[in-house]
Amino acid sequence: MTEPTRILLDENEIPTHWYNVVADLPTPPAPPLGPDGNPATPEQMGAIFPGAILEQEMSAERWIAIPDEVRQIYRLWRPAPLIRAVRLERMLGTPAKIFYKNEGVSPAGSHKPNSAVPQAFYNRQAGIQRLTTETGAGQWGSSIAFAGQMFGLEVRVYMVRISYQQKPYRRLMMQTWGAEVYASPSELTQTGRDALARDPDNQGSLGLAISEAVEEAAGRADTNYTLGSVLNHVLLHQSIIGLEAKKQFDKIGLYPDVIFGPCGGGSSFGGIAFPFLADKAAGDKRAQNLRCVAVEPTSCPTLTKGQYAYDFGDASGFTPLMKMYTLGHDFMPPGIHAGGLRYHGDSPLVSQLFHEGLIEAVAVPQLATFEAGVQFARAEGIIPAPESCHAIRAAIDEALQCKASGEPRTILFNLTGHGHFDMSSYDRYFSGQLENYDYPAEAVAASLAHLPKVG
Ligand SMILES: *Cc1c(COP(=O)(O)O)cnc(C)c1O
Repeated sequence: MTEPTRILLDENEIPTHWYNVVADLPTPPAPPLGPDGNPATPEQMGAIFPGAILEQEMSAERWIAIPDEVRQIYRLWRPAPLIRAVRLERMLGTPAKIFYKNEGVSPAGSHKPNSAVPQAFYNRQAGIQRLTTETGAGQWGSSIAFAGQMFGLEVRVYMVRISYQQKPYRRLMMQTWGAEVYASPSELTQTGRDALARDPDNQGSLGLAISEAVEEAAGRADTNYTLGSVLNHVLLHQSIIGLEAKKQFDKIGLYPDVIFGPCGGGSSFGGIAFPFLADKAAGDKRAQNLRCVAVEPTSCPTLTKGQYAYDFGDASGFTPLMKMYTLGHDFMPPGIHAGGLRYHGDSPLVSQLFHEGLIEAVAVPQLATFEAGVQFARAEGIIPAPESCHAIRAAIDEALQCKASGEPRTILFNLTGHGHFDMSSYDRYFSGQLENYDYPAEAVAASLAHLPKVG
């Protein structure tokens, strides 16, 4: 009998609870700090987030129920398939078994709607009518535009000006789902007007766009702000990925030896890895030698070269201070084509687990990621997002090690999204215009010198 290629679950097997890794941490997480250096209070955050989200942000409960309304929307694409990459295994000639969780099957084409949907739901439930957010490449903006539409919320997206001009299709997706999209810096906020007064040709940055979205949400009672990664509640929502994957592995009587995920703000990596770490914490024998590896770009190597310290989440120093691996909040990563991995910091939860030695991290150069993405597409058919290509690179390298050593390891990686709106990046790769950026040691050192002083 041939072994199954697609391991599918039924709609009614969508998990009923999210998993919160905070319950299993060896030490309690370091709290976010407000402008006065004291732990940030719920009141300070309440201006831009609904109570239910704040509760999740601070929660140490192991299991948190997924509202029925959210599971109803999840049914549009979940459970996401777990796929055995049989043809890739053959192409590599490896004894390893390679599996990937395909999160590219969501309407927006990535894992991000897993959190956009509950965020929209809790805001609607709290009587909020409008959501603001920022977007760089457009993955998060399109996810929240879709989710807002599901719950009848107005959505306004501040899109980094350069992406607004270069990525018209992501903008049009957002508009198709009813969102208003403005190039940032814009004339709509004080932050935007000030930036344009200083430089009328300002191309924008994620930091500026965050500041615009937060300013608008803080100034209007009917409006809240949403963030697509980094924060604890986002990682909680993304645990649906790993929880489903565990059920799927149970069906075929296997368990992964190693898990790879691309890591930008850390939400999809935490999402796939943490539910397996829960097994390890619970003493499950199958998980005792499990390795979870976050894969980042060599040009923005937050975990592998950053410092574990309190830093701002945004470039302008608007957000509370979070304890995380950081390259410095004013570090500007080179313009690599995996936009979702160009973040100076990382999720505090992923950071803490890395600091405590419970997970690993590796950095890979840009050209090698596209090489892996093309190889994967030619074997498996799916064209991966540039971010996902990072995990594919690491998974292929692991499979090649297995080939050398003859070990038949079971490898799982997170295919966080498809690359249909990133074909201009593939074009640059094929035409030889794509380059490897070295680790920008001097820029990181300069930026780390500006870390805020705490305590
Ligand atoms: C945003 C994004 C990422 C990185 O974000 P995380 O929060 O680290 O998961 C990875 N892959 C895709 C396809 C994305 O859109």
